Amino acid sequence: MFLIDMLKINEIYHSIQGESTSAGRPCVFIRLTYCNLRCTYCDTEYAFYEGKDMSVQQVIDEIEKYKCKLVEITGGEPLVQVEECLELMKRLNDLDYEVMIETGGSLSIKEIDSRVKIIMDLKCPSSGMEKKNLYENVQYLKSTDELKFVIGNREDYEWSVEKLNKYHLQGKCEILFSVVFGELEPVDLVNWILEDKLDVRFQLPMHKYIWHTETKGV
Ligand code: SF4
Repeated sequence: MFLIDMLKINEIYHSIQGESTSAGRPCVFIRLTYCNLRCTYCDTEYAFYEGKDMSVQQVIDEIEKYKCKLVEITGGEPLVQVEECLELMKRLNDLDYEVMIETGGSLSIKEIDSRVKIIMDLKCPSSGMEKKNLYENVQYLKSTDELKFVIGNREDYEWSVEKLNKYHLQGKCEILFSVVFGELEPVDLVNWILEDKLDVRFQLPMHKYIWHTETKGV
């Protein structure tokens, strides 16, 4: 029998939030299995297929062990398991958790509860996944959500600025500009942002500096 309550979970762990405006805060991460994208720079390929079945209640029981009220649902792409993911987020919100979801931006965010902070990517050209962006998602972003561009080169940067203007994104929500680790020097991106006087937040993937880049569960 197919149970709507069951999630395929890759890992659950307690770490420091490495990105977003919550960077530096302790957080429990729930990494869901599966992803419908294949970004060139992906560092979580192990989440494409590996995982174990857990009920929503079992996931919550595991989270509660950490005594940490900030929770991020990530992947892979968590919205591949959309019904179960929505149920998990609702239950966590009802338990007064501060819930964030990180999504690649190719699947609809329309049904996500307004209590959840959405961290959504728009995939830049060098990801190889630019054509998968679901631009209608932009209209569902709240002022408290965050839209992330992971930039690997100058072409990605110019593409991102063009999207900021086309969709009037600056001021709509927090805009995050990040580098593809090892591909673009952070100082180059910072200089471009300053030269163009962009109102965006530069960020570094903090967890990659704290731990080895290949370390899982951080
Ligand atoms: S969306 Fe994330 S998990 Fe999926 S391929 Fe891209 S980087 Fe990897």
